[in-house]
Amino acid sequence: MTHHYTVLHGGTILTMEGALPTDAASRGRGDPDVPDAAGRRATAICFAHDRILAVGRDAEILALAGPDSQVVDLRGRAVLPGFVEPHAHPYWEGMVAGMRLLAGRERRAALKALPGGAERLEPDAWLVGRYDPTGWDRPDDPTRDDLDRAVPDRPVLLAHVSGHAVAANSLALAFAGIDAGTADLPGRSAIERDAAGEPTGILRGPDAWDRVAAAMPAPTAAEGHAALARAAARLAADGVTSVADADVGSTAGVATELAAWGEAIASGAMPLAVALMPGLVRIAGGAGDPVPTPADIAADLPAAVRDRVCVTHVKLKADGALTTHTAWLRAPYKDAPHAGGPVHEPAALADRIRGAIAAGWAVATHAIGDAAIDAILDAYAAAPAPPRPHRVEHAMILDADLIARLAASGATAVVQPEFLAWTGTTYLARLGDERSTRLLPFAAILAAGIPMPFSSDRPVVPGAPLDGVRAALRHDAGLSVAEAFHAWTAAGAVVLGDDGAGVLEVGRRSDLVILSRDPTAVPQRAWVRGDDGIGVVATIVGGRLVAGRLDGLA
Ligand SMILES: [Zn+2]
Repeated sequence: MTHHYTVLHGGTILTMEGALPTDAASRGRGDPDVPDAAGRRATAICFAHDRILAVGRDAEILALAGPDSQVVDLRGRAVLPGFVEPHAHPYWEGMVAGMRLLAGRERRAALKALPGGAERLEPDAWLVGRYDPTGWDRPDDPTRDDLDRAVPDRPVLLAHVSGHAVAANSLALAFAGIDAGTADLPGRSAIERDAAGEPTGILRGPDAWDRVAAAMPAPTAAEGHAALARAAARLAADGVTSVADADVGSTAGVATELAAWGEAIASGAMPLAVALMPGLVRIAGGAGDPVPTPADIAADLPAAVRDRVCVTHVKLKADGALTTHTAWLRAPYKDAPHAGGPVHEPAALADRIRGAIAAGWAVATHAIGDAAIDAILDAYAAAPAPPRPHRVEHAMILDADLIARLAASGATAVVQPEFLAWTGTTYLARLGDERSTRLLPFAAILAAGIPMPFSSDRPVVPGAPLDGVRAALRHDAGLSVAEAFHAWTAAGAVVLGDDGAGVLEVGRRSDLVILSRDPTAVPQRAWVRGDDGIGVVATIVGGRLVAGRLDGLA
């Protein structure tokens, strides 16, 4: 049965239409219909297939319904633009969804659990998983000896949950050809060595994974397809309707991953709107190598899906992570005798960015430490104007001078509030009390006029946008609930350059999330305590229900 129109009525529609990112800016405009950063309110919405036809009051919208329309009473629930996730790793999320994550309080117990399930693998298959040592009683990365004791008879490769370090056993190191004579790749992968110069099994740096995983058999097309289907289901269950892969190629190489994306979109296994950001060092190995254009990359997708995918930014890394002591700071760590360092020397960073812009890209650069943010703003300033605004991913330590520079640069700060919920105590240990007060000052970023979409970097953290809202409001009392939802919707659509998403207004795509009630009617303190009671009821992409359920909605 086909329904020509779907009408949702009897709820609160937070349209984001006319919204400015900050409540102060919205109020400053003096428009009484736009009370806050969530924009104009309505009570009903009508869509047909993938387009929004009307948004307004119940009476006017219900009048549009015909005999074959689907009319659904929201019973006070809220409808928002579907959440936009502009920085995630869905291919990796789908791959790790079935893998073990060694976490918990006791390091010994975590390592002891490692072999569990290994007997189900093929005899010579790699055992792959992740570890999160930040909660362990002894937060040291696992060494090859630890892993050899747990699993002596097959290669083991564990990724640090941040993605910025790996732990490998002796067999994995041997397959990867890593021994005492193997050189570090400065800034990209450092091989930790013991007193005798032998690798300990721990590699740090943004390319540590690639260095060992290159020796593993590549995922098959079926495995890639299944991974993206799993990721899509998890994202949709959390209310996400648009997702960007913020480093295509980081798990299995650009060609393998692009092929999986193309097939998953074409088959409907990945129904969400998609943006793909290839890793710059993965599509142009050396700093002087020619950079493929966005059209070159898109050409690797099936023609039928090309116009459904945004391909505008390449991903670049200026530093590492705070948890692994590889973020690049202006002053040394509180708990280590160094300040981290750059992935690319400043001249090489500038060359990379110029090369990417010349090929038609804007650049999204991972920069966590204050020194890294400073360096990337220098490099952006020295380069010709990009075709779209550049992005700074994470932008975690922001002194007042960096906020001013970021605002002047025109770049977007793509930030991850949920990091603070999971890793806040480790940040405090790394940075000390005073510097920690400069972590992700959301309200100050907005007040400076910097575009600031929220994201999660999932699977680094679980990544549900509602948990991101809670973490953001807990961290910064100056941020409002409406501003937090704007950051998860309209702001994300802008950074992805997707003018069909992010706002519920006529002509945009019918990508929306239904929440249990109006999130802006819940007091801020309830969000901070986590007893707001707000949940995702249903997620709709292109007019189709992709997760959850709502009585009357087919
Ligand atoms: Zn990331």
